[in-house]
Amino acid sequence: MLLAEIISVGTELLFGEIVDSNAAFLARELGARGLTLHRKTVLGDNLERVKEAITLALSRADLVILGGGLGPTDDDLTREAIAAALNETPAEDPALIAWLEGLYAARGRVMPQINRKQAWLIPSAEALPNPVGTAPGWYVRVGDKVIVALPGPPREMQPMWREQVLPRLPLPQRALHATTVHTQGIGESNLAELLGDLTRQANPSVATYARKTGVDVRVAASAETPEAARELAGPVLAQVRTLLARWTWGEDGDTLAGAVTRALSGRTLGVIEAGSAGALCTLLADEPSFLDAAVTQDHRRLITLGLTPVTLHAQGLVSEQAARELAAGAREHLGAQVGLAVVTGTQGERAGQTFVALDTGEAQHTAALDWPGNAEQTRERAAVLALALAYR
Ligand code: ATP
Ligand code: MG
Repeated sequence: MLLAEIISVGTELLFGEIVDSNAAFLARELGARGLTLHRKTVLGDNLERVKEAITLALSRADLVILGGGLGPTDDDLTREAIAAALNETPAEDPALIAWLEGLYAARGRVMPQINRKQAWLIPSAEALPNPVGTAPGWYVRVGDKVIVALPGPPREMQPMWREQVLPRLPLPQRALHATTVHTQGIGESNLAELLGDLTRQANPSVATYARKTGVDVRVAASAETPEAARELAGPVLAQVRTLLARWTWGEDGDTLAGAVTRALSGRTLGVIEAGSAGALCTLLADEPSFLDAAVTQDHRRLITLGLTPVTLHAQGLVSEQAARELAAGAREHLGAQVGLAVVTGTQGERAGQTFVALDTGEAQHTAALDWPGNAEQTRERAAVLALALAYR
């Protein structure tokens, strides 16, 4: 087993001014390649703390990946920290200096003196060429362990990881096969109960993740070859698919809106949104089934779209009857074969209440949700509720 740790360096990361997307990228990469990640650390630009973190990580992991702090300024301290942790002294590498000076010369500029430290190496380090920036990375061999230092900007870090680091790493002969099953209409704890012991085994593993579009269930197996991993995952995946069939709307890259288009099998969809401000349209935007929409809160306009004044006065706009009338109106007034309507309250006493209705011409279906949340959450949930009604 190859055990890895990630250390992200940067005061702006520590204080939350930027999000540590590099660590997320690396974590996914490591997982996909059969490496085990036990810890991610975020540190400010502080020599002593970065050095300490490297020493500690190296004492318990085989691979330590550092991100950021390779720039030319005084607060870029990753090289210094690695050198200090290994008790080595950095020196300018003539080839790297020549390369750096060449970069500047090619643009008709003289290299600033502060950039010289980007040409540093220590005896254990090999430079990793940076195809987009001025900061070479470091690949450092420490006995049979490895420290990797990569620049912070993702557009530099990602190609260097793929093209420079991966080919050098003693990767285990492991392949991962993973399938994600998307569900709707069942809570995460009920789902976990349904899956029972399946979620307690390690390989294949079965894990649940709550998403805006419902709960995802990921079945993953690792083995020596992709085929062996697929075979190992197979029986468990089949079991999960059978258990969850009632709630499943897709797998892997499928979207809920795509499931709606599939369910419509060629029919066109018209949408009326009152209160959800286009949240549903945004999700449907790229679907070939999506014909037309009206997004409005204006009562007079809604009446021209099929809402009856009687319903509006007796039950209010946020009501099941209003959703039914507008779903029928979406067919009639938008010229679609199937009408889908959402009415939702984002403020006042109806805040968090949503009704959705689907009108196919032969039948009407409805669903409702009453759940506290801010306006943005309410609109988002209303849109998902409408799609969840329409894909069935
Ligand atoms: P440079 O040579 O550009 O200074 P560097 O290796 O010194 O590179 P940093 O100074 O730490 O890297 O970060 C430069 C920029 O890269 C940050 O301002 C940020 O936009 C981005 N960045 C750094 N670390 C991360 C991270 N962990 N996730 C996402 N983006 C990051
Ligand atoms: Mg920097």
